[in-house]
Parts: sequence; structure tokens; C-alpha cells
Amino acid sequence: DADMRLQYQITKFGEGDRLLVVRDITRLVRLEQTRQDFVANASHELRTPLTVICGYLETFLDQDLPRPLARALSQMQAQAKRMESLVSDLLMLSRLDASKHIADEHPVAVQRMLEQILRDAQALARDKRHRISLELNSGLDLLGQELELHSAFSNLVFNAVRYTPDEGHISLRWWVDDAGGHFSVRDDGIGIDPVHLPRLTERFYRVDESRSSASGGTGLGLAIVKHVLVRHGARLTIDSTPGEGSTFSCHFPPEMLIRTVRQDPA
Ligand code: ADP
Repeated sequence: DADMRLQYQITKFGEGDRLLVVRDITRLVRLEQTRQDFVANASHELRTPLTVICGYLETFLDQDLPRPLARALSQMQAQAKRMESLVSDLLMLSRLDASKHIADEHPVAVQRMLEQILRDAQALARDKRHRISLELNSGLDLLGQELELHSAFSNLVFNAVRYTPDEGHISLRWWVDDAGGHFSVRDDGIGIDPVHLPRLTERFYRVDESRSSASGGTGLGLAIVKHVLVRHGARLTIDSTPGEGSTFSCHFPPEMLIRTVRQDPA
């Protein structure tokens, strides 16, 4: 059977003895494929009706409406937008799920990407009066998929904004050393109890359900970050102290770094 999948495990014991265990995981692999297809199809099908709903809500809200109606419609709009983010995160995750490695890599201008993310974060954090800084210690760029890297980095930065109280500090840093390229996001926000760290990148895993869903996240952000990094041969490390803050760092191997010659705009 060409579709059959076997898993081998060899265990050494005693004086040079080996135990070979062969597991038939065909059904498990098929089940996983069915799950992935289902999530991908369902999210895709949900997108069109949601776009229509959001479009109508926007048109209605542009008009002069009695206050209770306007309030109800704008609540509907907030929830519909939340659903749109969920659907787009689910779609992104199912695309990432489909393969373990990026198919084609391109030079990604790290500085330009981080400056863009910084501007978006500053707009998002305006009401909270956060101080957000960006430190670039290398002109080297990354090889990879721009959309994926943008999504991973911005998820980390937006989380820092979400989980840091008013007037907090957030610092973004990009540097290169012998081990490779590193991007880190440090905040002095609420922090995370170490018991949660091993499960943090699981889909829909949240430290504090009520606080997290009120903060506007989808619960899928760190799952996306982890998948994107694995596909780029990179690792995520999390260092956090409750009440003091967190640092999320992405570590890229040297072979994912590239020196790009920038052309001055004429
Ligand atoms: P969410 O959409 O809920 O933010 P994520 O997958 O991005 O989902 O993050 C998972 C959980 O990790 C969050 O619900 C939150 O409890 C915790 N978390 C993520 N980033 C931070 C941070 N910078 N500071 C404190 N907690 C964080």
C-alpha cells in the first residue's frame, strides 16, 4: 500500500541488544489530513459571508441612526471583525500546516519590515501611551517568506502591546552574532507564570481566558509564530516574570541571513 505510513523506533538495552518497534500510523496521518482539510475549507467558506456582513454593517453605520440601533450595530460590527480575524488566522495556520518547510525563499528587508510594524504598533498603542523603541544592530536581512515573517513578528509586537498596561515600555531589537540572527520583543507588562510556558504556543491556549479574549486576540497568534519559525529553521524562546514583563525572541540560523545591496532611490 503506497499510502501506508510506518513509524520506527529503536531502543538500546543490555549489552548491545536492540528493540525495534514498528507502528502503523496510517490511520493517524489520514485523520490529521482530514482535520487540516476541514479547517482550511471551513475557514475559506466563512470568509465570503463575513465580508458581506461587514460591508453592510459599515454602510448602515455611516448613516444617522437612533442611538440604541447604532449601539447594537456597532457591537455586531466589533464581533464580526473579531470573527474575520479568527477566520484569517485559521486560514493562515492551515496554510502553514500544509508543509513543514517554506517552498521558496526571498530576501526580506528586515529594517523596512520592522519600521512598518513599529508604526502599526504605535497606532494601536496610542491610547495606552506606550513607549515603543526599535534598535537595529545589523544591516543583514533574512531569507524567507515575507508575509509569514511579517505576521510572526507583528503577532509578537501586538501581544506586547496587549499585555502591557498603560505607559509601559516595549523594545524591539534585531541583531546578528555567530549563532545567527535574532529578533526580540521585550515588554514590562503583566508577564507569564512559568507553568504556562510549555503550552503557550498551542492553538487557543490562554493564560487568562477573560483577559485575553477582551484584549482582542484570537488565541492563535503564538501558534502562528511557532509554525512560521519552524518553517524558517528558527526557534522561539520565551523569558518571562509575572508582574515584571516578558521577552519573546526568534533565533534564525546563519544560513537564513543575507546581505542585500540597497539601491538608493534615484
Ligand atoms: P491571544 O490572541 O490570546 O493573545 P496568543 O497565542 O498570541 O493568543 O497568546 C497566547 C497567550 O499567551 C495569551 O492569551 C496571553 O495569555 C499570553 N501572552 C502572549 N504574549 C504575552 C505577553 N507579551 N505578555 C503576557 N502574556 C502574553
